[in-house]
Amino acid sequence: MSSLLADPAQEVQLIRNADDRAANYLRQIGYRRVFPSDESLAGLAAFDEALPEHGKDPAEGLALLDEKGSPATVATNDPRYFGFVIGAALPAAAAAERLMLSWDQSASLFLGSPVAAKIEKVAANWILEVLDLPRESAVGFGTSATACTLACIAAARRSILARHGWNIDDEGLIGAPEVEVVLCETAHITVKKALRILGFGMKRVHIVPADAYGRLDPSKLPALNDRTILCLQAGEVNTGEFDDFQQIIPRAKAAGAWVHVDGAFGLWARASSYAHLTSGIEQADSWTTDGHKWLNTPYDCAMSICRDPNALAGAMNSDAVYSSASPYAQKNLTLEFSRRARGIPVWAALRSLGKTGVAEMVERHCLLARQIAEGLTEAGYTVLNRVVINQVLARAADDEETKAVVKAAQESGEAWFGASIWNGKAAFRISVSSWRTHELHAERLITLMRAIRRLEVRIRP
Ligand SMILES: *Cc1c(COP(=O)(O)O)cnc(C)c1O
Repeated sequence: MSSLLADPAQEVQLIRNADDRAANYLRQIGYRRVFPSDESLAGLAAFDEALPEHGKDPAEGLALLDEKGSPATVATNDPRYFGFVIGAALPAAAAAERLMLSWDQSASLFLGSPVAAKIEKVAANWILEVLDLPRESAVGFGTSATACTLACIAAARRSILARHGWNIDDEGLIGAPEVEVVLCETAHITVKKALRILGFGMKRVHIVPADAYGRLDPSKLPALNDRTILCLQAGEVNTGEFDDFQQIIPRAKAAGAWVHVDGAFGLWARASSYAHLTSGIEQADSWTTDGHKWLNTPYDCAMSICRDPNALAGAMNSDAVYSSASPYAQKNLTLEFSRRARGIPVWAALRSLGKTGVAEMVERHCLLARQIAEGLTEAGYTVLNRVVINQVLARAADDEETKAVVKAAQESGEAWFGASIWNGKAAFRISVSSWRTHELHAERLITLMRAIRRLEVRIRP
């Protein structure tokens, strides 16, 4: 029984212990290896324990978690992490999450958490303002862009079918008018996943070729109609490019199509002096974006934004006799029923940055990406994209050397970025998306890449 913390003082002591360990971890950021050493990875064997018959001391478990777990983390919360588009966690947002853990709210509806209902409403309004999207839109705070895209596309299909006199809630899909999906070949894999889960077979989805920059080629757009869902993209994962919303969306809208935009990270360009890249995006019907990427909230945090609040609220409604709420309660805007208040870290991030702080962070990242691209070019790499925002796509002399460079950088523990394939050739992607990353870190990355290339050239046959 002693391990069950019947004693409040013991509970507080354990939480303090966790906070001390968390603070220690934070203090090592910037000094630790970005990817764990082989020794740290081997240390994970300590977790190969049998499920205990009887409960063990939580403080001892916490020590194990910290002593063997912390060294085996990837330091994504480090200024030298350039992988995927993984932003770090802003202190304000991380601190809000810590407090929320003590609250332990089920933020489904007002009765579950008045404070969450209030703050998520404020956060929703702030999101629409900072991203300059139609102010009447509903904002659902979900776990990921994947889940939020799924919610938006479900809302799109339900609305389209309703317009054609078909009630999907009652009738399902068998015999329903066909809804066609059009998307670019460079659409993110999770958009395809959301479509697959919703029952849009990949063979029936109309895939539009990309132009040389990775954007949907408008000249290849098929005829659209009022049964089409067109998925566009703000921020392609390799190149960071944006579809030509100004040209494409009015065409789609004139045909009666529903336009959804995946802006998992790229939508944040709209909160900065790079907003011109998103011109016309406000004419879409729904948008997805992440908090846990460019806004630098902790995981899991994303948003479904839907111009017609009733479309999202209808598709996601989960009212029950024992749990009915306002149509716009978060449980009626997201896939989750029980849920944490993901809008609170968004609120905390936006409040601590302000509009100028968001713009400054986004603009700094874009500037650093340019600086890294220039440094890589000088070091003899080939930069493959135009570096329109915070993404740099590059390669070495050939596939073999490119892969070797990525491996060497990852193994160095000095930085981390991932491999990719562009136009059938090996490449690597560097994403600048951490609030912690400054010029000094960009310079260190360039220095590392220069050293690796020299070494590579020497060891090549
Ligand atoms: C990361 C990403 C997604 C998926 O977002 P999750 O929050 O990881 O589900 C979708 N689209 C793009 C362009 C992305 O970069």
